[in-house]
Order: sequence, then structure tokens, then C-alpha cells
Amino acid sequence: MTEMIHRSKTRPVRVGNLTIGGSDELFIQSMTTTKTHDVEATVEEILRLEEAGCQIVRVACPDERAAYSIGEIKKRINIPLVVDIHFDYKLALIAIEQGADKIRINPGNIGRQAKVEAVVNAAKAKGIPIRIGVNAGSLEKKILEKYGYPTADGMVESALHHIKILEDLDFHDIIVSLKASDVNLAIEAYKKAAAAFDYPLHLGITESGTLFAGSIKSAAGLGTLLSAGIGNTMRVSLSADPVQEVKVARELLKIFGLSSNAATLISCPTCGRIEIDLISIANEVEEYISTIKAPLKVAVLGCAVNGPGEAREADIGIAGARGEGLLFMKGKTVRKVPEETMVEELKMEIDKLAEEYFEK
Ligand code: SF4
Repeated sequence: MTEMIHRSKTRPVRVGNLTIGGSDELFIQSMTTTKTHDVEATVEEILRLEEAGCQIVRVACPDERAAYSIGEIKKRINIPLVVDIHFDYKLALIAIEQGADKIRINPGNIGRQAKVEAVVNAAKAKGIPIRIGVNAGSLEKKILEKYGYPTADGMVESALHHIKILEDLDFHDIIVSLKASDVNLAIEAYKKAAAAFDYPLHLGITESGTLFAGSIKSAAGLGTLLSAGIGNTMRVSLSADPVQEVKVARELLKIFGLSSNAATLISCPTCGRIEIDLISIANEVEEYISTIKAPLKVAVLGCAVNGPGEAREADIGIAGARGEGLLFMKGKTVRKVPEETMVEELKMEIDKLAEEYFEK
């Protein structure tokens, strides 16, 4: 099936220090919620996103003030910066000149050919890609008239229309997104796009909602695509602090074995055999490992009956026993630890394993 291998078969495109496409690697993207011209607030938010594991960040660029802030923002952050332009080619030119690592603009929306060429030539000169962002909610009139309403075929046709404009100018550093808030529509559109062209795909389910419902909706849509081998970058869109978007995205990538820089928690659902206050311990350990950048598996189990054996694949873990915990590694008990100190001891051992991982 074509789509099973799309991720690694895509054309590699450079975005800052990252190569998007051409491999199985998938990068987490998020978007700032600050006014981009407020450099202090924007940089502060981006640094928080970096800390959470965000690998590419997008900022809105609604006016010249925002466009002229790009250079200063770039100086103070460490991950590639994508600038979101809607129609105004002048803003695109300023953003490129200021050092944007990628711009999001649909060439078909720019207007006169001379303007399109100006943007494409500027992007070419700096070696930066252009993301074409197709959105089910804003398809071209012509396509809507043809299909009657937003369909996956219509979305792919729109993407191909914008792609052709760039290809005709011999520009191929293209990344495409096909967002819809309807999960089934987004899945179908991305699958059809993966069969239609080999440019890297940026995944997203747009307007997915609040932290709880939006995470589930994103997991359903993005998870289906990830498991089909589709997607080179991904954003989870939530009506929440964007740090939460990054956390949800990281969890999703971990599930599909696509994250090489995050620790995973395995915790039992608890039952009548429980011997420790597992839910609060699991939450504490989850928070603790959220900044660990090594692919460790950490288990927290309520009892020792099936405990260590149930989590054999865990690198390290604890299982509750009456008044104490059993610290185990790879399914084998290492030592007993008193209940009061077991979480602290677990954290110490996690740090040691993470250090060893990076020393390797
Ligand atoms: Fe129950 Fe123990 Fe299994 Fe947790 S590890 S679900 S407490 S048997």
C-alpha cells in the first residue's frame, strides 16, 4: 500500500537544522498564542515549548510589526521558526528577509504572478521551504462549486493546484497540510494526498477543542494516520496552553514508537490488590519524566503480585508491597525500598539511567 511507506518515501526538505521527510522521523510542531510583535512574550512562550519537546514552532504574522519581529525572535530561540502569512506577499518577503526558516502561504492566494515569483525567488535564495496549508473550511470557490461541499478529493485538488504554481517556478521545497475539523474528512484527505504526491505532510486536526476532548479527537485522527505511515510533522491543535499540545503530541508519537527523545510511563489501572497510593504516584512520576529526553520506559504498579512481571519491558519501575515498594529493572527485583522514600529513589534511578543513555 502506498500510504504505508509515505513517511520515509517523501522528498526531504530542510527546515532550519532539521530535515523533514525522507525518513521515518516525525517532528512535533506547535504554534504560539502571543502577539508576535510582543517579542518578550513570544520568546518566553517558545522557550517553554522547547522545554516541553516542541521541535518546530509557528508564529502568526498578521502585520508588518509582527514580520519585523521575526529576526529578534529568531536570535533568542533554538528551534526552527515558521511564519504564518495569509495573503500579503510583502509580509512574506519581510519574514524571509528576517530569517524565517519556513513560511506558510498558499501561492494561489498571493495574487498577481509577479508577486508569487517575488516570494518564490526570495524563498529559493534563502533555501527555505513553503508550506501549503489547505483547510476544509476555506477551499477555493471553484473547487467548492465542483464538489458542492468540502471533500477529501476537493482538498487534494486544492493542494495540487498550489503545488503546480510552485513547481511551474521550479520550486520543490514544499510541505503540505490538509486540515479539517472533521476527523474522517482529514484522514481521507491525508490518505489521498499521500497517494497523490511525495511532498512531506504536516498533520493536524484543526479546531479540535479543549484539552480533554481535543486530545481524544486528535489522537483518533492523527493516530490513524501515524499508524498508516503518514506524516512528517504534526501539530495537535487545542484550545489550551500550547505546552499541552506538545505533551499530547509526544504521547502520541511514543505510542507509535516514533519518539526517540521521550520517556514513557506504564502504570496499572489498579484493582483490589493495590498496596500503595498509585494514582498520585503515577501522576508525580509522569510529571517528573516529562522533561527526560531519553526513551526510557518507567513502570508504576499497584502491587507485586503480577507487578514486575507485568511490566517486563520497563527499564525501571516500582511495585507496591505492604509498607514498602519493590524497585525493579527489566522485570527483575533490584531491592526493597521504604514506602516514604520509594518515589524519590525511583527518580534517582531514572536520572542515572538517563545519564547512562546519553553516555552511550
Ligand atoms: Fe491490580 Fe496489582 Fe495489577 Fe495493579 S499491578 S492492576 S494493583 S494486580
